[in-house]
Amino acid sequence: MTPVTRILDLVPEDAEHTLRNFAVSVGEAPYRGSQAARHLWQSPARSFADMSDLPASLRERLAERFSLDRLELVDERRSTDGTRKFLFRLGDGQQIETVAIPERERMTLCISSQAGCALQCAFCATGAMGFARNLNAFEIAGQVRELSFVEPAIKPTNIVFMGMGEPLMNWPAVDAALSILNSPKGFGIGARRITLSTVGWLPGIESLAARKEQFRLAISVHAPSDALRATLMPVNTKFPLADVIAAAARFDRRVTFEYVMLGGVNDQEAHARELAALARGCGAFVNLIPLHPGGAMGFTPSAAAQIDRFARVLRAAKVEVAVRRSRGLDIAAACGQLRTERLARRAPATTDVDRQVHETA
Ligand code: SAH
Repeated sequence: MTPVTRILDLVPEDAEHTLRNFAVSVGEAPYRGSQAARHLWQSPARSFADMSDLPASLRERLAERFSLDRLELVDERRSTDGTRKFLFRLGDGQQIETVAIPERERMTLCISSQAGCALQCAFCATGAMGFARNLNAFEIAGQVRELSFVEPAIKPTNIVFMGMGEPLMNWPAVDAALSILNSPKGFGIGARRITLSTVGWLPGIESLAARKEQFRLAISVHAPSDALRATLMPVNTKFPLADVIAAAARFDRRVTFEYVMLGGVNDQEAHARELAALARGCGAFVNLIPLHPGGAMGFTPSAAAQIDRFARVLRAAKVEVAVRRSRGLDIAAACGQLRTERLARRAPATTDVDRQVHETA
């Protein structure tokens, strides 16, 4: 027997080609394969049986030969600010998070690329849970697909790879997922509206730069010197800041620096001046991100006035800067926080801090 093919792991053009050949092989016209392909991403169907514009016999044959994999939605939280966070369970029981952030006419989806993360950034809840495994292409793009089944459907205008995981350490699957998100035969989301966020994983930056589409790159900088950055982001010893900045300068599109404001740690004026020099060096745009306190053990958010002072120093140095508003503070919306909270609730023995976190949640 021919093994079952996971059709949602293929880039849309390959999937269509495969389905057209299959239609012919079972005595149907090739266009029937294209019809089935439309139901992968453009007009998603929950199952082959649901592809009601196809003959019933073909639907049955398709279901024997291909799988149309689903992610199981196990939890949803809604913030008072409109942000929604979804927790999905994968086939092997791993759990991943997806956040939907509405803002005026935009709907941004923040998606995960790995279950857990190996990088251990000091303030990040995903880092604290450790690395479980890479996601497949269907599990990355599938987060968007599943949200099209929610009532009413969530239709993203923008995608950010800022959920769980380091996307550039899972390049083959992320590469395919980018095609699914961007292709007119996939979700058709413009490349400029799709942003990859990375700690500065250099081989991955080269791979992204080699793609012809204008996908956007955001780099988690978080500290303007190697000494400080290494205490926050262990990956800095493998890829020092100067090399990351050089890669950003070589990247042929404008990059964004992400900078989480950690009270008393990286938010002083001297840090702002150093950061300004780095940003000017590669023409970067700077996003100042208030710390999401949940899961960020030992850190406190910078005061709003301190963030404003920091932003003013950058602007005075002719660096473009935006101060992000924290979204979904009441629903544990930052990277890894929801999964962590649920695990903490289940565990019989939790620390006092854990207990406080979920009692107030
Ligand atoms: N691994 C990638 C993408 C995932 S995290 C990266 O590090 O860029 C997306 C962003 O959320 C990163 O900038 C990360 O540093 C930031 N982040 C993690 N925990 C946070 C928290 N508690 N508050 C605010 N931002 C956080």
